[in-house]
Amino acid sequence: GLPLSPPQAANKKVDIHGEGQRISVCVRKRPLTLAECKRGEVDVVTTPSGECMAVVHESKEAVDLTEYILQHRYHFDQVFGEESSNEEVYLKTAYPLVQHMLSGGKATCFAYGQTGAGKTHTMLGSSPAGTGLYALAVRDIFAHLSATSASLLVYVSFFEIYCGQLYDLLEHRKRRLFAREDGKKVVHISGLRDIRVDSVSSLLEVISQGTAERTQGTSGVNPLSSRSHALLQIQLRNLNHQIAGRIWFVDLAGSERASDAKEPNKQSRMEGAEINQSLLALKECIRSLDKEESHTPFRQSKLTQVLKDSFVGDSKTCMIANISPGHSATEHTLNTLRYADRVKELR
Ligand code: ADP
Ligand code: MG
Repeated sequence: GLPLSPPQAANKKVDIHGEGQRISVCVRKRPLTLAECKRGEVDVVTTPSGECMAVVHESKEAVDLTEYILQHRYHFDQVFGEESSNEEVYLKTAYPLVQHMLSGGKATCFAYGQTGAGKTHTMLGSSPAGTGLYALAVRDIFAHLSATSASLLVYVSFFEIYCGQLYDLLEHRKRRLFAREDGKKVVHISGLRDIRVDSVSSLLEVISQGTAERTQGTSGVNPLSSRSHALLQIQLRNLNHQIAGRIWFVDLAGSERASDAKEPNKQSRMEGAEINQSLLALKECIRSLDKEESHTPFRQSKLTQVLKDSFVGDSKTCMIANISPGHSATEHTLNTLRYADRVKELR
């Protein structure tokens, strides 16, 4: 018979809990909303249980799925169906990153996807807010700290990137910030406010303050949250103010906006082009993390520049690609799955 495949092929696919894997790419499908059900939206995404696979059923007749169905299958490290809670998603995505951070490492968790696909529901939680990955991570961080003798302090910062510019969400009226690289090529964001938190509730307080700033000044058809990336950083520091672990949670701009380059409105076109550029750069930077390339294209966008640290050394990254189930979102859903597929490719 044929020789058995070499063992390293199997080793490549160790889970994120293992030492080897630095990148985990997951997909989360949300349920149809009540409004979608009311307007007759058809669920075209299935997530077969026990398989890390998302299947999109595309029909020639947009609604009638019995007509000539095209199936697109994508495999990921984890696939969460509409029945998955934030707690379950957390345990299989951010939890291993939190463990890594608590042992002194660096980690980054991204929520990617079209506007309305569930990024904020995943990160922040909805009804009630504060039941998403941010809060679940902080719960575990404080539980760990109270169980150890190490004196570590928890700091949080929260800012957004809009059109390539940084704004502090923890300053009233979103103060503009500037990132620069020092002589050792470490990126600093000067003036970025960081607030010490000593409990889950004080963190949620800080986040709701930032979230309120983020949505202010919204005008036009697209809510600001679809046009900007929101970056939350949680740091552990020892009593000498040295960093002893850090984790980023990034609620990315709506991926559908990356195709806004064709929009008639100039501002929208500029926003779209900027988002497109940053999401492309992000994909390349995450991919080079796995390949241990010495040249990672950090500078191609502000997003990847400020996250530079996340793409080098012992960093671990998890991407959660959020998808909408409805037939009218099929094109965006497929784009999201293709993007996520490219991020995890070549492992
Ligand atoms: P995004 O941040 O990607 O634009 P949201 O997180 O705001 O999207 O989600 C859009 C809507 O769908 C919200 O009303 C949210 O409550 C709901 N939603 C998203 N994900 C889920 C989920 N997994 N379960 C239930 N409702 C969800
Ligand atoms: Mg959102």
